[in-house]
Amino acid sequence: MNVPLGVRTTSTLKLAARLTWATVSTTKTGEAKDALERGDFEGAFRIVEEAVGAAPDDPEARELYAVTHLAKAIRLSDRAREARRQELIRRAIDYDVEFEDTADVSRMFDEALAAIEDVLRVQPGHWKALLLKASLLFRKDRVAGRPQALEILAKLADADPTNRQVPFTIRKIERPCPRCEDTGFCSYCKGRGSKRFLRIESKCAKCYGRGICPACGLL
Ligand SMILES: [Zn+2]
Ligand SMILES: [Zn+2]
Repeated sequence: MNVPLGVRTTSTLKLAARLTWATVSTTKTGEAKDALERGDFEGAFRIVEEAVGAAPDDPEARELYAVTHLAKAIRLSDRAREARRQELIRRAIDYDVEFEDTADVSRMFDEALAAIEDVLRVQPGHWKALLLKASLLFRKDRVAGRPQALEILAKLADADPTNRQVPFTIRKIERPCPRCEDTGFCSYCKGRGSKRFLRIESKCAKCYGRGICPACGLL
């Protein structure tokens, strides 16, 4: 059986292990920052995971862990939404028709949520992670996600009444969006991202080709 570092019996060894951890973590967080500066996101992500594994209480490692995992969550969440939009176009589902996500799209949303939960495991009160979690739950499923999102946001508002981004998000979420009939997609191009005029297909000017409702789709 492998004995994990630090679970030794003598106090001297314990202390030695702790000192080693500190050095490891300092090096690792430094390495992670270097990787981020190089734009090597995957590398930074991996190093930060190691750093937190080696020194779970190191505040710098935890902060880097939160930052990189949040960035990953945002990427995954955008990927899920884009996959959903592409699926709706592929399946030729009309703009105002109820739809169910394919298993692939659902999995992508779950992966994004899992990345946020990773952050919250390390930093339970991380407000940006909580804000993103609320937005993602809402993005994933407006009907089921709306009350869950509002509950998280109400707690955030209580915790920090000066944070203006929280009431802003609450206002966006609390009522169905009139501009897109709460579909989340651009009503002008019906989520396609492009318009056909005189047989010419061109980028939708309202959503800049993203197919997302300009009023509520930012969430
Ligand atoms: Zn909208
Ligand atoms: Zn559009």
